[in-house]
Amino acid sequence: MPAPRPVLVIEDDIALRETLAEEMRLEGAFLVDEAASAAEAEALLRLPHARYDAIVLDIGLPDGDGRDLCARLRKQGHHMPILMLTGVQGEQDIVRGLDAGANDYIAKPFRVSELMARLRAQLRVFDTSEDATFMIGRYTFRPSSRMLLDTAGRKIRLTQKEAEVLRYLYGAGGQPVERQILLNEVWGYNNAVSTHTLETHIYRLRQKIELDPSNPSLLLTKSGSYGLTLHN
Ligand code: CA
Repeated sequence: MPAPRPVLVIEDDIALRETLAEEMRLEGAFLVDEAASAAEAEALLRLPHARYDAIVLDIGLPDGDGRDLCARLRKQGHHMPILMLTGVQGEQDIVRGLDAGANDYIAKPFRVSELMARLRAQLRVFDTSEDATFMIGRYTFRPSSRMLLDTAGRKIRLTQKEAEVLRYLYGAGGQPVERQILLNEVWGYNNAVSTHTLETHIYRLRQKIELDPSNPSLLLTKSGSYGLTLHN
């Protein structure tokens, strides 16, 4: 099962926000932070290690219009999927929400399962986009540019295959992946590449990303499989 995705829910209706957050947490695929206003949300997003893979944003907030907040976030360079909650059925309002940079909207009242399905769909699209980034230990991994950035801002460049190996292991959410599966997924089923090739790539990756490559803490070997440590 993939690692849970951090999501920020911005909604001033306490009952709705808490139900939403609770159901999303229970489902297991999301780590939820809550904000009751635009100001609270912006304060959370300004925290040094803030990282949200998606935002659920109510249109009517006590300190402003959710669409204005959405436009502001896009301007500040936040690329994650934003899903608007709207009580307004008017087409104009929805169009304005999408113009402000929202990826999708859902009209109240809605089923939480429907909202989660929409979020997952947006995340799937986002994860294959140029803007996608993933947290692996102390690194931010940007597959599109085959780059790892550590907390000190140091850049590590990866080869195409190294990036694909990391991307696949990340998708497994820290669960061990058998060598043969990893080999097939990254090199293709019709490719007669030996596990030795994979081991060489793993060796090089460890040289690049581990503090002590002979005693790995990020890219682990577990009985014939490889797995990533996703959290410190
Ligand atoms: Ca509201």
